[in-house]
Amino acid sequence: MPQSNPVSKAQDLGELGLRRDKPLLIVDVDEVLGLFMQGFGDFLAGRGLEMRIDRFALFQNIYRPGESEHLDLAEGKAHFDDFFRYGCGDMEPAAGGAEALAALADHAGIVILSNAPGQARMGRTRWLARHRMDYPLILNSGPKGPLVSRLASQVSGPVVFIDDLLSNLSSVAEAAPEVHRFQHVADERLRPLAPADLEAHRRIDHWPDLHAAIHDIVSQT
Ligand SMILES: [Mg+2]
Repeated sequence: MPQSNPVSKAQDLGELGLRRDKPLLIVDVDEVLGLFMQGFGDFLAGRGLEMRIDRFALFQNIYRPGESEHLDLAEGKAHFDDFFRYGCGDMEPAAGGAEALAALADHAGIVILSNAPGQARMGRTRWLARHRMDYPLILNSGPKGPLVSRLASQVSGPVVFIDDLLSNLSSVAEAAPEVHRFQHVADERLRPLAPADLEAHRRIDHWPDLHAAIHDIVSQT
């Protein structure tokens, strides 16, 4: 009988060069390893537009200077796609992220799981390498739970998942409840606006503290 939910080559830890007998860290990019809102805001500024961070949203935060109505959502989406095609390589890394991953790599395999459009692959791969985070990159779209579950099923040790978005954390809680979940919001302006569910997922916005919490989990094997 064929497996109903086979692990594709792109999601096979062996193919990705990762060991199955070590803990696994699954890490998001935007607002976890990189300052996405700042980077996208700078990209928009280069096009004469403004990113106003007064709510936890994306396309609803893009304005023409002086206007009170946000840009048409489809137009915002087009700029977003262009950012991933041309601009995501200029994003600033989140403070302490690369250092934490480098130290944690002694204890765990690391895979980067980013919900970015396909045209981001080249720029995102180069960005990760330039900032010393050249771990295997998986691009995904939609809720991350099913994919995290397939990755987690391949390792014997503990698995840790880090993301800024509650929707992804909840998806992982549902599909792979055994996975340790942390919410991390890198942008200081977004932190007070980002919804959290502290009963369901731990929230740590500073990488040195997050590093310590993850170390406690992955160093016990
Ligand atoms: Mg993110």
